[in-house]
Amino acid sequence: MHATDGSTRVHDVLEHIRMVPDQYREFTVSAPDLLRLYRIGPPLLDQLLDGGLPHDGSGNDRRFDPLDAENIGLGLSIGPRWRIMRGWSESLVRHDHLGTRSGYRVNLTAACPAPGHHGPCDFALDPALTADLAPDELCRVEPGSYAWTLAPARDPFYFPAQFNELINAATKLRFHLLPQELTSDLEFLRTTGLADCKLATAYLVQRSRELGINSRPRGGLFVSVPFPVWHGWVELHTDSGWYPADPFLLGALTRWGITDAAQWPPKRSTHGLVLPVDSSRLRVTCRAVEPATSRLRIAGVSYLKPHRRPT
Ligand SMILES: [Zn+2]
Repeated sequence: MHATDGSTRVHDVLEHIRMVPDQYREFTVSAPDLLRLYRIGPPLLDQLLDGGLPHDGSGNDRRFDPLDAENIGLGLSIGPRWRIMRGWSESLVRHDHLGTRSGYRVNLTAACPAPGHHGPCDFALDPALTADLAPDELCRVEPGSYAWTLAPARDPFYFPAQFNELINAATKLRFHLLPQELTSDLEFLRTTGLADCKLATAYLVQRSRELGINSRPRGGLFVSVPFPVWHGWVELHTDSGWYPADPFLLGALTRWGITDAAQWPPKRSTHGLVLPVDSSRLRVTCRAVEPATSRLRIAGVSYLKPHRRPT
């Protein structure tokens, strides 16, 4: 990284950080932990402190906010959050090389809500989870183990020109991890231009309404391999039906230089890569001990093997 480019990026990330009011910060991270957990070492920390990085205390007792640290990582391409973003972009790139007869399998496991009871467990999924699914979309592999199949998108879908204004509005926003209190604060977005996935989704729903576009907010899993990520996006109604749109994330990944806009322009739908699911419905009961419930655990994502063609 060129020195001038580096200091510009430090300046930019600090500018965004200072847009978040101090009242939302939790100064819990020490300087040694900044290095250990977020790869922010002493030379960079000095530069950040000179630029006005918010902190509590002084000298060796300084404490920093964990969200600030993650945003610094995103802005400067370092640390764990950055690696997650790279994982997303790798999933996007690989998605186009899956082949038409493959797809994803989200593996789920159940644990008994009341272990130690007499007899074997008899698990049942939350009926609200399975109600909207095709019959073989979520299958039991063995007792307590399930596979949720996500068919790949056969062809890329690009939102047509009438969605341009909405999509361009999303790409102007800057990706910034936000404290819980700000993730639905559209006034904060309007005054700062910053958003996370949840706030960008609320904004896109509002803008759609103003532009006369039929939209609905969605939440669920972005199915990167080997682990999916909880995520939020919008679905837009087109002449060919509902399609998930994620111009905010695609715009951010492109700006960070880790996704090729020629392959994944913001107007490309992420269908085949996202699984709408309400996390509160990922639950099972054990009919041996009803009515206790427990969470279904996401064990990971794997690629579906292509079906062998009958000869
Ligand atoms: Zn049981």
